[in-house]
Amino acid sequence: MTAFSRDIIDRFTSLVNAAKRIVIVCHMTPDGDAMGSSLCLMHTLRAMGKHVTAISPDAYPRNLAFLPGASDISVATYHHERVRYALLHANLVFCLDFNDLKRIDRLAPLVEGARCPRIMIDHHLNPAMEGDILISHPEKSSTCALLFEVLKAAGMDRYIDTDAATCCCAGMMTDTGNFAYNANDPALYSILASLMERGVDKDSLYNRLFNTNSLSRIRIMGYCQYAKTLVLPEHRCAIITLSREETREFGYTKGDTEGLVNIPLSIPGIVFSIYLRQDEENYVKVSMRSKGDFSVKEICEKHFGGGGHHNAAGGEIHASFEEAFAKILDIMPECDLMLERMNEDRQ
Ligand code: 5GP
Ligand code: MN
Repeated sequence: MTAFSRDIIDRFTSLVNAAKRIVIVCHMTPDGDAMGSSLCLMHTLRAMGKHVTAISPDAYPRNLAFLPGASDISVATYHHERVRYALLHANLVFCLDFNDLKRIDRLAPLVEGARCPRIMIDHHLNPAMEGDILISHPEKSSTCALLFEVLKAAGMDRYIDTDAATCCCAGMMTDTGNFAYNANDPALYSILASLMERGVDKDSLYNRLFNTNSLSRIRIMGYCQYAKTLVLPEHRCAIITLSREETREFGYTKGDTEGLVNIPLSIPGIVFSIYLRQDEENYVKVSMRSKGDFSVKEICEKHFGGGGHHNAAGGEIHASFEEAFAKILDIMPECDLMLERMNEDRQ
């Protein structure tokens, strides 16, 4: 278990105790960890008698709608007035699973404008935002695991009921591929045991998270692997592309290609993988994954105005699909150099 400083936990406790109206914000296009941590905290704080509004900057994926309390999430792009009101009247704002206000898009001015303390709890590298309390632990595999430890240290874990525990467990599972990677910390399994003691049905959660697919997801995943995966062995790289026409044709909805970018990494010799999805005429979402020392975070920060983790990062390209693909080919020499440097370091 992580030892937090007494000062941090004391300040955390007094901010939470003093607040009546609390807002929780996660990053846009929330994943299991962003939604799971927000909902876990929402349930916990409500059990403590707080008035809580959980906000997502934009719509959450359909496959996470089953999480207990998901329908209580205010989606900023739909519930604009509700979100504005909640932030205007909040006594405390939590920022979960992001560390840069760029990650909440158009919600940023409202969060910045909220005249109340702010607590950030996150596991991404290099925090780039201010807050009254910044709990940043990049060594943690998920914000959910970190949140559980914070709540425990503050003695608030007794308010974590089955629903809160289920949401927490969901984030821990999705950010580790069901404990397949970033999952060597024994503390994770103590947390998991505590959550299961609170009534989490882990097997059924696994089925909902990893074994439930829409027809559009099955088809689009198959299509991308069959027809849209370009392997460049000379660059130890794979590139998957999906155009707007194709997303339309397959009836793509958010979350349908979750995990796609990881698949080429299972090919021996492939060190990094890139997924380009054209979401608008001149907007291409970039997702990158890598193995070992190859930092996709560095590439996404430098070239795609993004960031993330060392082996899992993302960004965006404001250009046509053709220009985006050309930009990827342009950075190949730089990627080759990174690979060479990695090899030299190993020798
Ligand atoms: P994904 O590829 O699953 O969308 O994201 C992988 C990781 O990269 C996540 O941890 C996410 O926080 C980060 N990430 C994805 N897109 C962006 C982006 O546009 N900006 C930043 N800063 N991080 C991103
Ligand atoms: Mn996360």
